[in-house]
Amino acid sequence: MNSKYDIAIVGGGIMGCATALRLAEGGMKPAIFEKGDLCQGASGVNAGTLSLQIKRVRLMEYALRGHEIWESMGDAVGFRKTGGYTLAFNGREAELLEHRQNLKREAGAPIEFVSTDDLRKSEPGIAHSVVAASYCAEDGYANSSLTGQYYRAQLKAAGIPYFERSAVDAIETDGKGFTLKIADTAVYVPRLLLAAGAWLGPLAAKLGFDLPVRARVNTVSVTERMPPLFATVIGHATGLLTMKQKPNGTVLIGGGWQGLGSPETGRGRVNAETLAPNVALACHAVPALKTARLLRSWTGFEANVPDFYPVAGAVPGVENAFMLGCVRGGFTIGPYIGQLMGDYILGRTLERPLFETGRKFEGAN
Ligand SMILES: Cc1cc2nc3c(=O)[nH]c(=O)nc-3n(C[C@H](O)[C@H](O)[C@H](O)COP(=O)(O)OP(=O)(O)OC[C@H]3O[C@@H](n4cnc5c(N)ncnc54)[C@H](O)[C@@H]3O)c2cc1C
Repeated sequence: MNSKYDIAIVGGGIMGCATALRLAEGGMKPAIFEKGDLCQGASGVNAGTLSLQIKRVRLMEYALRGHEIWESMGDAVGFRKTGGYTLAFNGREAELLEHRQNLKREAGAPIEFVSTDDLRKSEPGIAHSVVAASYCAEDGYANSSLTGQYYRAQLKAAGIPYFERSAVDAIETDGKGFTLKIADTAVYVPRLLLAAGAWLGPLAAKLGFDLPVRARVNTVSVTERMPPLFATVIGHATGLLTMKQKPNGTVLIGGGWQGLGSPETGRGRVNAETLAPNVALACHAVPALKTARLLRSWTGFEANVPDFYPVAGAVPGVENAFMLGCVRGGFTIGPYIGQLMGDYILGRTLERPLFETGRKFEGAN
């Protein structure tokens, strides 16, 4: 059967879009099918933090490259390299900070420990109860709500077709290619990439592959515009806080606190019981925030498998089918791992390895 496209990509988040761009660069004709709008999922609602201090050690090299790519996107994605501090408020947190950051330094992140005096000179708005802090000059953020707009422009410029409000409901294979059912149309393609974020599990199941995808329901909040309170990205030793003040004065607060809902229903809800400690920790770090009004809180679905490493490679047992997702800190790493995925599909030598998709997806390590 003839196909207009060399490969169909199911899911138009960062992973799907970044891979499509690389494939087109390598001479393939990809098409993206997205059930909503491009980057309406995790890629468009996340906290936008680009922090090496909160990346997993094994993913550090990928995050370093991710930072470079975000920097090259610049103003179009609201990129700011502000530097970032991670704070500890007691001895136990200070020990945790030292242990974690030393491992990340060994993995190549330029993280240094700073005295509380230096912290106060640089960020006078931060609480005096901080007992230890680390700093990374590479940290910063981008504006996730600009991701869709950015990739839409890039795809258009590269001549890559993308179909929004086009949910792939069924996938059939004849051993040579794949027929995708999208409402009452069918599209035949010789290759397939599943990049469907928190919805990756059910799609892999349509190819007979059991992928234990779980979703975290992360919460992000934004305050009203405030006078300048701090200039860098702020985190906490436990990883339960990320915070940045945008140029317009609003403060974005995240940290992975869990809301309610599930990808199956497609609806996430803010949970007041987890929102309160999230905001309290933010106010503890920057006391002047206590006077700020919270304007809005929202949630998004972040996918993972039990070992919390990416799913990136071929679908085991299904020729010419690939999958990409479940990347912890996937906003930071997404543009780079999408390039690697593209190179893999193009049969190129990879700059860095992808992640074994045939592994046993068991517990965190
Ligand atoms: C609230 C929140 C905060 C986060 N904060 C950060 C952060 O500060 N820094 C960081 O590095 N990372 C952060 N992350 C993680 C990061 O956002 C994700 O790892 C990344 O965006 C995942 O990209 P993706 O393309 O895999 O998934 P998504 O962006 O979710 O894209 C998957 C797409 O697939 C589509 N889809 C699903 N099923 C189908 C179907 N059947 N047919 C067609 N399309 C389909 C969906 O509509 C969706 O658009 C956060 C995540 C969340 C949720």
